[in-house]
Amino acid sequence: MKTGMNVVRKVISLLVVLTLLVPLAGEVAVMPASAVTQAEIDDLKDQAADLDSQRAELQQQLKAIQADKSKALEKKRLLEQQMNATQAEINNIQTQIQKYSELITQKEGELAQAEEQEQQLYEEFCQRVRYMEEEGEVSYWSILFSSSDFSDLLDNFMMVEEIIDYDNSVMEELLALQEQIKADKADLENSKAEQEAAKVKQVAAQEALKDQESQVDALLEEINGQEELVKEAEAELRAAANAVDDEIKRLEQEMADQIGNVPSESGFLWPLPSSRNTLSSLFGTRKDPFTGRPGNHTGIDVPAPKNTPIYAAKSGVVTTSVYGSGSSWSYGNYVVVSHSDGTSTLYAHMNSRAVSKGETVSQGQVVGYVGTTGRSTGNHLHFEVRVHGTRKDPVDYFGDKTLYYRSGGKTVLLPH
Ligand SMILES: [Zn+2]
Repeated sequence: MKTGMNVVRKVISLLVVLTLLVPLAGEVAVMPASAVTQAEIDDLKDQAADLDSQRAELQQQLKAIQADKSKALEKKRLLEQQMNATQAEINNIQTQIQKYSELITQKEGELAQAEEQEQQLYEEFCQRVRYMEEEGEVSYWSILFSSSDFSDLLDNFMMVEEIIDYDNSVMEELLALQEQIKADKADLENSKAEQEAAKVKQVAAQEALKDQESQVDALLEEINGQEELVKEAEAELRAAANAVDDEIKRLEQEMADQIGNVPSESGFLWPLPSSRNTLSSLFGTRKDPFTGRPGNHTGIDVPAPKNTPIYAAKSGVVTTSVYGSGSSWSYGNYVVVSHSDGTSTLYAHMNSRAVSKGETVSQGQVVGYVGTTGRSTGNHLHFEVRVHGTRKDPVDYFGDKTLYYRSGGKTVLLPH
């Protein structure tokens, strides 16, 4: 009877251990809601591969016209498209690298959790073994044979079953945890290696972009040396302006409610830093102060160094923000802001754009940065003003601003 009581005490103690263990064993690694998945990164990789083949395709086209000097503008267009694809690829890889970092942190967390779980389970198991050692050998048979009668035997039998189940489940769980830890470690190493590979790819793309940039610079020199190419550029810019006139009207109708909700200032703010006040090309209807002849220009040109910020002349809604395609390629990266008083302002040849279509901008907000994309032969802002869709001389809207015009090495104050 004494032995029977002992066994019951032992079993009860074991059951206490078991109860303590149950919530712990039931705990599984829970992924956070914002968890990154490999599938997400694989999608990005597919997109990057598309951009890569786009670049290769453009390279083929470039090769085909490489020797033809009269195709300099066409080469510039292809190079810019290549640069856009390369930049998109660089951004894409940046996202991949970022996602890999998140994935690695996530996997490290899972691994640490699994290792901790394994450690805890193992300690509990050791405790049980130590306990059994201290209390002397306990075999399942000895528990059963210690039963005083049949009902005691039945009770003991159930206890033994629970002990056996407990032992088995702990062993199974320990083994499963070890497998999981092994897999987690392999996953982690894999993600780290893939992140490293992405970094190498990004460096290569950055070098390609630099190379494309210097090719464009060389082309600009080539184009500037060819009078007919400069004239061609002006003519194509007019075609672009004609093409976007209707597009601007259409978008202003489409977004009329939104545009109407943004009060516009009475005056225009100069779209460049104050010191950039010398025009290199005047609006078409304005007579050239040196030659007395009117030109054919759709806006004004203000030279400024690459990446000089360009400001919204008035508060309004961005109705266009694109790298032009078709005839509007001439504008390169351009932005149109439509204002509630029926005017709109257009900013062209940007190196990069800082706003997207549909965005509300306030007067003075940066909409992009000076560049020479599209039919442009040097860094400058090409600026247009429209009133109910009709192009006007932008200079007339800056009465308070001292402006100069520089041509053929001579500078003159602009009367307005
Ligand atoms: Zn221009």
